[in-house]
Amino acid sequence: MGSGTKLLAQLGTGPHRVDDVPGQIDRGEVLRYLGYPQGVEPAARLVSVLDEWIEEAGRRATPRATYVVLPVTELSNRRLKVQTSDGFETTFNGAIGEFLGAAECLGVFIATAGPGVEQLATELMNDGDPLAGMIVNAVGAERAEAAESVVIDQLRENAREHDFAPTLPYSPGYCGMGLVEQRTLFSLFGRADVGVTLTESCLMQPLKSVSGLIGLGPAERVQAFGSPCDRCELYSCSMRR
Ligand code: SF4
Repeated sequence: MGSGTKLLAQLGTGPHRVDDVPGQIDRGEVLRYLGYPQGVEPAARLVSVLDEWIEEAGRRATPRATYVVLPVTELSNRRLKVQTSDGFETTFNGAIGEFLGAAECLGVFIATAGPGVEQLATELMNDGDPLAGMIVNAVGAERAEAAESVVIDQLRENAREHDFAPTLPYSPGYCGMGLVEQRTLFSLFGRADVGVTLTESCLMQPLKSVSGLIGLGPAERVQAFGSPCDRCELYSCSMRR
C-alpha cells in the first residue's frame, strides 16, 4: 500500500469538522488586514478603540471549518481530478501544476469566522462607525484564517506519519483559478456542513470565510516544488508567500 493510500485510509474521506480554534486573536494579523505594514503600530489615540473592538469581535466570532481528503486520479498543469466519496470524479481547473503539482491526495476545506462578526460589522457601519466596522471585519478575516490554520495543522500532522507534507493552500479566485471553481469545491460538502453557503455569484456567506485546496504529497516533492510565488512575475502582489 502506497503512502497516499495509507494516509487516505487513516483520514477517511470525511467530512472532518474543526470546532476548536484557539481563542487568542493574532493582533498583528488584524493590523495587517487593516492595512498596517509589518512592524507599524497604530497611533496611540487609536489603540484603545482597536483593543475594544478586537475583544468584542472575538466574543462574537464562532470560527470553525470542515474538510475532506480525496485521492487525486489525474493531474496536469491546468487540471486536477479527484475521486469523490460516492465514487464519481470531480475536476478542478486553474494553475494546478504550479500550486498542487506534487499532490497525490487533495484536502478541500471551508473555514469561517461564523455569522456573528459580520452581523456586528454591518450594525456598526449602519450606525455610522466605519472604523469599528473595519476593525471587526479585520478580526473576522483573522478568525477565518485561524480556522484554516487548524485544518492545515491537522493535515500536516497526519501527513507527517507517512512522509507526506501539505502544499500551500490554493483558493478559487486567486492566482489563475477562477472564482467559479467555488461551485465544484462546495459540491463536495453538504449544505449544513459548516454554515457557509455560496451565492449565485460564487461569494461565500458569511463573507469572512475562506475555502481552498491543499495538496498532500511526498514531503521531498512538496519541498522541491517550493512556493509558486518564487516563480511568479507579479512582483507587486501583496499576497506573496
Ligand atoms: S505572487 Fe501573488 S499572484 Fe503570484 S503566485 Fe504568489 S500569491 Fe499568486
